[in-house]
Amino acid sequence: MHLRFLGTSAGTPTRARNVTSHALVRDDGRTWILDAGDGTQQQAMRFGLRAKTVDGILITHLHSDHCLGLPGLLAWLGIHGRTDPVHVVGPVGLGAWLDLTHRVTDTELPFALVVRELAEDREVLDLPGWRAVAVRIRHRIACWGYVLREPDRPRRLLVDQAIALGVPPPLRKRLVRGETVTLDDGRTVAPEACSEPGRPGRSVVLLGDTDDADAILPDAMDCDLLVREATYAADRDANARQWGHSTTVMTGDFAARCRARHLVATHLSARYTVPNGGRHPAVEALVAEIQARCPDTRVTAAKDGLVVDI
Ligand SMILES: [Zn+2]
Repeated sequence: MHLRFLGTSAGTPTRARNVTSHALVRDDGRTWILDAGDGTQQQAMRFGLRAKTVDGILITHLHSDHCLGLPGLLAWLGIHGRTDPVHVVGPVGLGAWLDLTHRVTDTELPFALVVRELAEDREVLDLPGWRAVAVRIRHRIACWGYVLREPDRPRRLLVDQAIALGVPPPLRKRLVRGETVTLDDGRTVAPEACSEPGRPGRSVVLLGDTDDADAILPDAMDCDLLVREATYAADRDANARQWGHSTTVMTGDFAARCRARHLVATHLSARYTVPNGGRHPAVEALVAEIQARCPDTRVTAAKDGLVVDI
């Protein structure tokens, strides 16, 4: 399973970075896209996304740099042979906006579009193959973060060993449940003898723009991957609070509090990512500021095309 960054710039694109979007790709190839800034269809092609594998798109909020690419992305899915339904999840207003856009632009999608608008502060989502929840986080307009968790993988029976030990089929199920069983001849067989341990499902936390994401903290604890914006360096705390964004300090502190294994900081202000003669800190300096706040978390700065294994 991996996350592919399609766009990593805040507000406006730069020559090297498009506006926000990333794609979560499961081991079986099924894909959910988070946010779709303008030009996301071009980025999807550039980085080899396949239209038939996209199950849906999660929109964090309706600021233009996070959603203006959605109509084009949906059209791209249709042009590239998509016929199965596509799910779109996002704030109230998303459905009306898409309806109007499709009507005015005479767009007919060759698949059913299933729109789910979020109205509550916390909503459980029915995404195929995921246990998912959307939680409202603070920003200038209604904005959500998403937690996607794989189902736990149960213990797996090693059939050859079960047969060799003479464990009859009815007792094998109990071994997989982690129980020790007693055979007719009095021997006991522990689950470790003929089954592999299960594995807790991996979890991914994908946040929208925010200067306070504490509401999602209980759902985000111990995540394998956290993606949060770090629009500003530490010295621009006032700007961050004015615009409802995060500094490196806020993002690093949040990663430490939720004990994220890996944090990828994205939505970086263009002032840090274009050559500027050294007037602003470089991206490496932002990473150092974040890392200082969360020493136990691996920290990476996103860039377009980056693939992060989970
Ligand atoms: Zn925003």
